[in-house]
Amino acid sequence: MNFSSKLLEDAVAEFSKLPGVGQKTALRLVLHLLKQDRAEVDRFSGAISNLRNNIQFCQTCHNISDHVVCEICTAPKRDRGLICVVEDTRDVMAVENTNQYNGLYHVLGGLISPMDGIGPSDLEVDTLVERLKENEVREVIFALSATMEGDTTIFYLNKRLKSYNITISTIARGIAFGGELEYVDELTLGRSIATRVPYENSLSR
Ligand SMILES: [Zn+2]
Repeated sequence: MNFSSKLLEDAVAEFSKLPGVGQKTALRLVLHLLKQDRAEVDRFSGAISNLRNNIQFCQTCHNISDHVVCEICTAPKRDRGLICVVEDTRDVMAVENTNQYNGLYHVLGGLISPMDGIGPSDLEVDTLVERLKENEVREVIFALSATMEGDTTIFYLNKRLKSYNITISTIARGIAFGGELEYVDELTLGRSIATRVPYENSLSR
C-alpha cells in the first residue's frame, strides 16, 4: 500500500496488528476515526491505554478485574462452596451470561498443551490447590472446552485435586458442543452447568 502520509501509514500498521484485521480493514478503521471529533478519538485512545495500564488480575480467581480482588469474589451472595474452573475471562463471561451459576471461578489462564510447551506451571494450578486448602469449597466444576487440551487439563487437575474432600464434576460436554466454550449458546451452556456430572462418571460414558 502506498500511503500519502507517514502518520496514516503508522496508524494503519498498528491496527493491522490486531487479530483478524488486514490492511484494508485497518485503513477503513483509521479513515473512520479521522472523521470523528477529536474528543471522540481521545476517548477511544484513552480507553485503550487505561485498559492496558490499569487492569488487574484478581488475586483470588485471576479473572480480569478493576480491583485487587474482583467483584465476583467479593460478592456476598455468591456460593463460596463452588468453584468453576475455566480457561480465560471470556469463559467467565459466557458462564455468567447463562444466569445459571452462582458460585466462584478460577481462571487458569490457558490449557495444558504439551505441543505448545504449556505445562501446569504456566497456569494458575497451584493457586487453585491453595484455594482448596484454605476455603470451605465442596465442589469444583470443570468448564473447559471439549478439545484435547481441555481433556488433558481436566485429567491432570483431577489427579491433583482428588485427594481433597470435594466433589469434582464437569459440565456436560459432548456432541452438543465440540470446541470452545465461548461459542456455545447461553441456553446450552446453562443447561450443561445445571446437569453437570461427577468427573469419574463422565469418563465411562
Ligand atoms: Zn476474583
